[in-house]
Amino acid sequence: MSQSPLVHSLGPATRAYEQPTGGWFLNNAGWVTGGERTLVVDTLATEARTARFLDAVRTDTGHDGDRLVAAITHWHGDHAHGAIQIARAGGRLLATGHSADMIAAGPHLFEQVFDFHGWGDVTPPAIDQLVAEPSSVELGGVSADVLPVPWIAHTAGDLVVHVPSDGVLFTGDLVFVGVVPLVMAGTAAGWVQALDWLTTLEHRHLVPGHGPMQAAGSTAIPDLRAYLSWLLDVTAVEAPDFAALEAEARQRWSTWSEGERHAVNLIKTHADQHGLDADIVTMAMAMLKPFGGPIKLDI
Ligand SMILES: [Zn+2]
Repeated sequence: MSQSPLVHSLGPATRAYEQPTGGWFLNNAGWVTGGERTLVVDTLATEARTARFLDAVRTDTGHDGDRLVAAITHWHGDHAHGAIQIARAGGRLLATGHSADMIAAGPHLFEQVFDFHGWGDVTPPAIDQLVAEPSSVELGGVSADVLPVPWIAHTAGDLVVHVPSDGVLFTGDLVFVGVVPLVMAGTAAGWVQALDWLTTLEHRHLVPGHGPMQAAGSTAIPDLRAYLSWLLDVTAVEAPDFAALEAEARQRWSTWSEGERHAVNLIKTHADQHGLDADIVTMAMAMLKPFGGPIKLDI
């Protein structure tokens, strides 16, 4: 296990939990606390990492059991695998309907793609409350808005958490910083639209799904928008040269980690634009090519 996570205080009520940038399944999370209860935003990929995260939540807030509510931004395992620990502690889980369905069908370990045996207990929990409309969670003197994205973006059921009193926006995986985003479960076109929507939510601090914290006016959203727009532009033609485009992307975004994702993003975006089915096996094979087998996780 490499560097330790960082806890950032982003206002009286809000904390961000930042894991190291780069590496599959190393996401960010956080919490918002009021006088009565605490809203946890996302969990982590493994039982051990989530237990450590929840220890930090309990130590900081003094809240546990039914005073915990968790909003899961989307179904991907890095964000959702630890949710069972909130449920077992007696807390409540919120997610979109799509996320709830996907979580119920998990855990999603993708054993053909990842060589890893350290998940621990990541049994999928039931989601207590489906978020179909924007809603406010009252925490006691503080509230947090849970806002679903009504179209397909990073996934078909993303949500974000906005804390107006502290000017904080938890974007889940709608924002990646310093890491190639993954379009496999969503669409580049819908994602661009979601980024434009994010900029309408007032904030001073942005907590990305992956990568370092961002202040207002950071280039994170425009940079990601430029990448997604590039994907859409270069795959608009019938038969793009995927290998050449992947090489171009690796060079142009050379400071972003997980460069293997460019291959998948190009195939998926091309398929979406031409009404084709993006075959999951083809996408996985394209991504694993540089590794010559499953990706070894170091989490
Ligand atoms: Zn994700």
